[in-house]
Amino acid sequence: MILRFTPYTAELRHAFTIATASRTSTPGMLVEIEHDGIIGYGEASMPPYLGETQASAAAFLAQVDLGRFPDPFQLGEILPAIDALAPGNTAAKAAVDIALHDWIGKKLGAPWHRIWGLDPAKAPVTSFTIGIDTPEVVRQKTREAAPYKIIKVKLGRDPATDRALIDAIREITDRPITVDANQGWPDRAEALRMIEWLATRGVIFIEQPMPKENPDDTAWLRERSPLPLIADESVQRLPDVNRALGVFDGINIKLMKCTGLREAHEMITVARALGLKVMLGCMTETSCAISAAAQLSPLVDWADLDGALLIKNDVFLGTTVVDGKITLNDLPGIGVVKR
Ligand code: MG
Repeated sequence: MILRFTPYTAELRHAFTIATASRTSTPGMLVEIEHDGIIGYGEASMPPYLGETQASAAAFLAQVDLGRFPDPFQLGEILPAIDALAPGNTAAKAAVDIALHDWIGKKLGAPWHRIWGLDPAKAPVTSFTIGIDTPEVVRQKTREAAPYKIIKVKLGRDPATDRALIDAIREITDRPITVDANQGWPDRAEALRMIEWLATRGVIFIEQPMPKENPDDTAWLRERSPLPLIADESVQRLPDVNRALGVFDGINIKLMKCTGLREAHEMITVARALGLKVMLGCMTETSCAISAAAQLSPLVDWADLDGALLIKNDVFLGTTVVDGKITLNDLPGIGVVKR
């Protein structure tokens, strides 16, 4: 098995602002695994606030020695060995996981949603994210988001600004809204007041309302909240799922947080066993990582897989969004071809 990797920078169509940062591009790494005449594609997306860089990913991937395994099929051996090379590096690990899955699916001649036995008709709609901006820009972005059935907004600044953003969207559309506060509401009583107001404005759930350091406050909020609370920053990997119980109503799984498709699939299984709702999210990603995540989408309640829609230099063709709904294709592996 040969592993190749190349730095890649995803250029955003619009500057993207959340409660803690703003940016116009996202660094990434494209990965290929070649074996037996077949190439599997993978990708790492590394928004700066998460700590990985193209340099750290290159250093990590340079340590990965796939030559000691006979072929990509032994995921149960290969992925734990890669995970044990160093802590963190979850996006770099995800890139390898995705490329191995792509190779296996291509070798078997089947897309992963078929290998997992899923019904592509059950793939959900995806939300479309509108970042923090002036009311005028928010109105314009809401008009552009007309094809999407659910709008996701980033809140978590002061209450007046947050309310103005919701009001700006409601001037344009009555579609359901999901809110991501990105830990932006540290005061639980204020958070509750905001959520009670949002519930009257057609919001359907709240992602990560409070800082991850205070699970007791989030549990207090959940007991009183009229809307479900979904963990994002609080839940990264498989062992974190159990800790969401009693604190959140559901979890947001992202390949770049959890090291890839294999662990994401395990997290969904555990979350379901615990009675948790499941959302599938993404970073700014090309159609490579988005199409990989989309293979799991028939298993989840909500999807936020708009990453490839937000960039202007996608190097892959893959899963599409048709009339707002994730539409899986029959291409083998993760369902992509290079442009
Ligand atoms: Mg989030």
